[in-house]
Amino acid sequence: MRIVGDIYESNVFITDNALIVDAGANLEKLEKCLAGCKVGGVLLTHGHFDHTYFAMDYAQKYGVKIYASVKIEEYLREPKKNYSTDFDGMELKIDDFSNFVLLHGDGEFSAQNVKVKYFQLGGHSKSDMCFLVGDDLYVGDTIIGRGIGRMDLYGGNKQDMLESLKKISALSYKTMHSGHGEDLTKEMADKVIATYIRFLSR
Ligand SMILES: [Zn+2]
Repeated sequence: MRIVGDIYESNVFITDNALIVDAGANLEKLEKCLAGCKVGGVLLTHGHFDHTYFAMDYAQKYGVKIYASVKIEEYLREPKKNYSTDFDGMELKIDDFSNFVLLHGDGEFSAQNVKVKYFQLGGHSKSDMCFLVGDDLYVGDTIIGRGIGRMDLYGGNKQDMLESLKKISALSYKTMHSGHGEDLTKEMADKVIATYIRFLSR
């Protein structure tokens, strides 16, 4: 299930087995969609505030851990790097990471018996990750609709984006869920990826 969030219309997803992916929708909105569900955890695709702002609220409300790249820490500690300084009164600054499971490299974990594969990415931010849950791949802002995410923000760059696209293209999944906008089938995603690998390789 996709919920359109409150900041820059970022997506929040609830997987079939009640994991929450990204945290840009206020708790009230989320609670309505999760009524009666046993939430297993919160996964964050990267550190920008439109994807992370309500993460601590979710974790506290449902008593679960937040899973994210180890590189997310500097983004959440520093409002300028997570861009929450773009909005008055919305500063996002997290100093206590005891609710977090910070992930190194690529691998797999179980959140309340739900198996999640994770892969470190980059290019949009240093903290980019994608998560594979069953046949669903959650890519955050690495791929958005028929394009790719911005590479001009803090920690973004072309070379890392190129490597990320190559990495994603090797994964098996059915549906790609982006950080903004509609889902893509693997076939559609492969076309976008091929186009941008060519574009970035020039
Ligand atoms: Zn972003």
